[in-house]
Amino acid sequence: MNTQGRKTTPDIESAAATDVGTYTGNRALVHEEPLIFELDNPGVTGVDLEAVPAVASRLGGLKAREGIGLPGLSEPTVVRHYTRLSQKNLGIDSTMYPLGSCTMKHNPRLNEKLARLPGFGDIHPMQPQSTVQGALELIDQLAHWLKTLTGMPAVAMSPAAGAHGELCGLMAIRAALQARGEAGRTRVLVPESAHGTNPATAAFCGFTVDAIPAEANGRVSVEAVKAKLGPDVACIMLTNPNTCGLFEPQVKEIADAVHAAGGYFYCDGANYNAIVGRVRPADLGVDAMHINLHKTFSTPHGGGGPGSGPVVLSDALAPYAPLPYVVHGADGFRLVEHEGEVEGESKPFGRMKAFHGQMGMFVRALAYIMSHGADGLRQASSDAVLNANYLKARLQDLMSVPFDGYCMHEALFDDRFLKDTGVTTLDFAKAMIDEGFHPMTMYFPLVVHGAFLIEPTETESKTTLDQFIGAMRHLAGKAKAGDAAHFLAAPRYTPRRRLDETAAARKPVLRWTPPAA
Ligand SMILES: *Cc1c(COP(=O)(O)O)cnc(C)c1O
Repeated sequence: MNTQGRKTTPDIESAAATDVGTYTGNRALVHEEPLIFELDNPGVTGVDLEAVPAVASRLGGLKAREGIGLPGLSEPTVVRHYTRLSQKNLGIDSTMYPLGSCTMKHNPRLNEKLARLPGFGDIHPMQPQSTVQGALELIDQLAHWLKTLTGMPAVAMSPAAGAHGELCGLMAIRAALQARGEAGRTRVLVPESAHGTNPATAAFCGFTVDAIPAEANGRVSVEAVKAKLGPDVACIMLTNPNTCGLFEPQVKEIADAVHAAGGYFYCDGANYNAIVGRVRPADLGVDAMHINLHKTFSTPHGGGGPGSGPVVLSDALAPYAPLPYVVHGADGFRLVEHEGEVEGESKPFGRMKAFHGQMGMFVRALAYIMSHGADGLRQASSDAVLNANYLKARLQDLMSVPFDGYCMHEALFDDRFLKDTGVTTLDFAKAMIDEGFHPMTMYFPLVVHGAFLIEPTETESKTTLDQFIGAMRHLAGKAKAGDAAHFLAAPRYTPRRRLDETAAARKPVLRWTPPAA
């Protein structure tokens, strides 16, 4: 992380929250929560079973020599522990969560209700297909919506997240190139502003990554792409709207140029929330695009899940879609799971994961899509863009904007407004935590210095946006007035304060060991 030369290493002493003047170390509702193993009270359990009558062991002399190390806990202790832990994270249900690029939007409770219906929630992926016809129909229906919204002829439903979808798309491209006898196309063009998963995916797939520089206006130009094209180019990976929150106006010309040179157009669709119902990626010349269901069709993600990244495919790539996929025949829905079962043009490149995709996410996404309808989806993307532009308009006199003009769904600022204040983007973010907001995405995209990438989404009302704007203006004013101390001491009100993030990443302590008796 770019800390721009200033020491931000925490003072571990001041990080300890115990010195708060209370006997317990708690601060009212902010409890000092030990690890569950530290709560161990040997012999205590949440259940009260009668003593087992003497029975002869039938284990042939095998007997546990010691316990398995689970802590002894009463039921209320367990419930309180996990309830308190659940309250230690900021989340979209507790506050505005303007994490740019991540599209943290409200998840309607209707989605959750439907995902918990026993017919969806309690089924098993190995059940006979005849008993899960409704689930297969739901996957088919969602596929239909995704194809209709994007204008694309095919979709691979199984990828489990955006990055996994990128891998799926690039594997389909590789399979198509091999089928064309052009396995020598090994170079993938990736703009500098791309999300880190793009070059990582290309490299993971065995391609070499060639970076396209960003223009002064934050966009990719067709000239810069043409300068890189050649007979060894497999594809371009382009994000639209891009990670600066800007629409790529030359996207169609770029797609045409890449196609003319024999390459494919992979579109990173993580920012699809900005254009659903307004732009059909097929009309832009896209060959493959992942859709982060967890960004565009509700369900804020994080902490490892849940996510889902179906990939829409053009006619050129559709035959290589991975197994399994759902087909609809005279006798209902069928899951094609093995190469021996495929028909027609289908030449699947393989399989992305066990089973059939993220069923719970499919239910949530379809519930979101159907409850909004086509007009509602279009309204949501328009509101997301409006909210970002409102933020940008209300903050740009105090904070510095790298690119003039309207933005799409996220507003990008850089750290020029903090010049000579002694405050960094990171310090500013820490002060936002004290104000009760999750910080924006910082130091990404890399093409601007000390980036603040703010994505309010359509979720936020004008009242919330105004409160957030008020907090940002207050902090920007404080920094400019020379109150660096305020920032360097933040966050003040969290259970822990500045942590040594480098040590946490480099030397993580993943195992609890009991203190010596
Ligand atoms: C989120 C994101 C990804 C990766 O998606 P995951 O679902 O997190 O794997 C890729 N590109 C962009 C622009 C993103 O915002």
